[in-house]
Amino acid sequence: MSAVSLQNISYAYPGSGHGVKGVSLDLRPGELVAVIGPSGCGKSTLLKLIAGFIQPDAGAVLLQGQPADALLPQQRDIGIVFQAYALFPHMTALENVAYPLKLRGQAKPQRLSQAADMLGRVGLAAQAGQRPGQLSGGQQQRVALARALVFNPRALLLDEPLSALDASLRVGMRDEIRRLQREHSIATLHITHDQEEALSIADRVAVMRDGRLLQLGTPREIYERPVDAMVAGFVGQANLWPGRLTAPDRIDTAIGSLAIVPRPGFGTGQAAVAMLRPERVQLGAALDGRNEFHGEVVRDRYLGALRRFDLAVAGGLIAAETPSVAEGGEAASLRVHLPPDAIHLLPVDAAPAS
Ligand code: ADP
Ligand code: MG
Repeated sequence: MSAVSLQNISYAYPGSGHGVKGVSLDLRPGELVAVIGPSGCGKSTLLKLIAGFIQPDAGAVLLQGQPADALLPQQRDIGIVFQAYALFPHMTALENVAYPLKLRGQAKPQRLSQAADMLGRVGLAAQAGQRPGQLSGGQQQRVALARALVFNPRALLLDEPLSALDASLRVGMRDEIRRLQREHSIATLHITHDQEEALSIADRVAVMRDGRLLQLGTPREIYERPVDAMVAGFVGQANLWPGRLTAPDRIDTAIGSLAIVPRPGFGTGQAAVAMLRPERVQLGAALDGRNEFHGEVVRDRYLGALRRFDLAVAGGLIAAETPSVAEGGEAASLRVHLPPDAIHLLPVDAAPAS
């Protein structure tokens, strides 16, 4: 049974019309679902609906199969960590972590020992007596995480908990969140604006736009088989060439007629967008001469591990990415080919349903 089940949930903020529309999502026991999407697409609203801070206009929130509408936020047994740590400044780290147990009526010695144990698990045993103001951002976020986990919640909701941390700390903390989440086997909804973070720690990724859930799938599904051009462009980089199929295995695009692998659902005469990830573009000539291009290098960026080229060809651009160690030189032009089996077909602009 799902830890949290959203069934066709809609909510609009009074007077604004914005919120979420028709979202269905099952958070399975022990899984981590990352929610990504542009700012304002409804991620935090989804969290508030699960937490019970707001009530849906339509649809239902189920917690372990039971309708949650009659439950107040504090009765829902859900741990929450926000972007701002929201610790009590006058309490020590230990007292902060023990606080949810106090609310649940646990005796003092028991709650302090349980909180101390939880602080140890997030690596802060030595900081138990310090107040939030004496802790670094990363340490404060660990205290917030410990406080959200200490009462064995049925689910954990994280709303961009790492965005206030600097880049190097962020990577360490995201792995730590994943470790704790696995250790406690706790169903977790992790909201992030960092798509790399989402791909790296999630069991499944939910992509939202304009209040709607566009796609829910494993990181590999989302990256390799995005449902539309928006998802493709939002998660990683993508070459997107709109066109029309002239045969089951050919599509006419602005950069020319491309050989493709026939795909179910895409027939001759149909409009589609050909998508190719830059790292799937191959440098050099194609053995069979198919989908071969000679382009002028209009941009050549060194990205550390990778090097990205923008090649101008008749009719458009091809973005190509290679390991930066592989190619030396400052070529003014490059020959590349586009492997047909790496080209994915996307539907043309499914008109946004209202
Ligand atoms: P996200 O977390 O994805 O950035 P939110 O869920 O916070 O987005 O917001 C979704 C939409 O609802 C946005 O258009 C936002 O402006 C609007 N919104 C959020 N909170 C309120 C509010 N309290 N009152 C009115 N509109 C709101
Ligand atoms: Mg938000």
